[in-house]
Amino acid sequence: MAKTEQTLVVIKPDGIKKSLTGNILTRLSETKLRILGAKVVRVSKDLAEKHYGHLKDKPFFQEVVKYLRGELHGARYNRVMALVYDGEEAISKVRQLAGTTNPEEAEPTSIRGQYGRLTTKGLFENVLHCSANAQEAENEIKLWFDPDEIVDEIYPVKEIEEKVKKRIWD
Ligand code: ADP
Repeated sequence: MAKTEQTLVVIKPDGIKKSLTGNILTRLSETKLRILGAKVVRVSKDLAEKHYGHLKDKPFFQEVVKYLRGELHGARYNRVMALVYDGEEAISKVRQLAGTTNPEEAEPTSIRGQYGRLTTKGLFENVLHCSANAQEAENEIKLWFDPDEIVDEIYPVKEIEEKVKKRIWD
């Protein structure tokens, strides 16, 4: 039986700069998956390093951290759009539509095949991230989103009381 899954999608700074947000969301809507959360994020060094923690020992680690933080695309585009999708076989459906990591090898009509590029420095600029498996999806969703930013209860939560300083409209 097909399993209901969640997956994290991040439209990376090259996707934002190339004005591909709408195109990517349209392609993703073909999957008929539901969106449970969406936001625009300016990625901190800590978030980028945690997100790419599995690549810590790779020679391109610092470059992908810079890439996700928008440091390669200028201050107007140092942001990403993060989304949580939910539905049957969500992880493989989105991976299939996204195409393989290397955009030069990705199926030409996949999102990465259509819009990605290999930079002259050898970095794969592949316009979006999507979770690779269920464990990665859960870790990534919990890393990028707070429970109240997701409209359904997908993981157990607990309540804590804390005094926080926050900004409000003046
Ligand atoms: P994916 O994003 O497909 O899950 P990885 O987690 O392995 O793939 O890699 C994260 C990101 O790092 C990729 O999306 C790509 O931008 C970059 N990257 C991965 N492998 C390479 C590589 N061999 N050379 C250059 N960039 C790479």
